[in-house]
Amino acid sequence: MTEQLWAPWRLKYIEGADKKQGCIFCEFPAMGEPTDSTNLIVYRGPLAYIILNAFPYSNGHLMVVPFRHTDSLVNYTDAEMLEIMRLTRLSQRLLTAAFKPDGFKLGVNMGRVAGAGIADHLHWHIVPRWHGDTNFMPVLADVRVIPESLSAVYDRLRAVLPISLEQDIVPVSTEARNGQVICRS
Ligand SMILES: [Zn+2]
Repeated sequence: MTEQLWAPWRLKYIEGADKKQGCIFCEFPAMGEPTDSTNLIVYRGPLAYIILNAFPYSNGHLMVVPFRHTDSLVNYTDAEMLEIMRLTRLSQRLLTAAFKPDGFKLGVNMGRVAGAGIADHLHWHIVPRWHGDTNFMPVLADVRVIPESLSAVYDRLRAVLPISLEQDIVPVSTEARNGQVICRS
């Protein structure tokens, strides 16, 4: 989904994806909240959670993962879909508060052929982008610095979590209902 970013450390991840047993998207949350910082889980909602991608396309690359293990969008309930979008919104708030990106790439890769590293457990990507990061990334792209920067990124996101949750309530009056679209542009 972000082919223009050069992220060489992802090669190791993609090569290893087929050999892995089990499902980290099920195993990490099952290990319990005390291990969340090690597993890079930023936030747990009732039906889904937000996790930092350990093999990021860019700094702050987040994923929203439903707790329920399934490989297709059609298996999710309305409540799960709502939770996924709610956590996507929260992810935007977190990244904006922590890193002020210029834009975001959002997406899901369904199936290995579509580029999913872990195809059996559907997950959504939120990739922050900055002006000029296509050229900037290769300069910083050193696999040895990634673990260190990952924990720094994690700490920063956790620090802005309380304020982001507080702000994450949108008044119902701004909703568009029954085709009565509220457009202020
Ligand atoms: Zn799973």
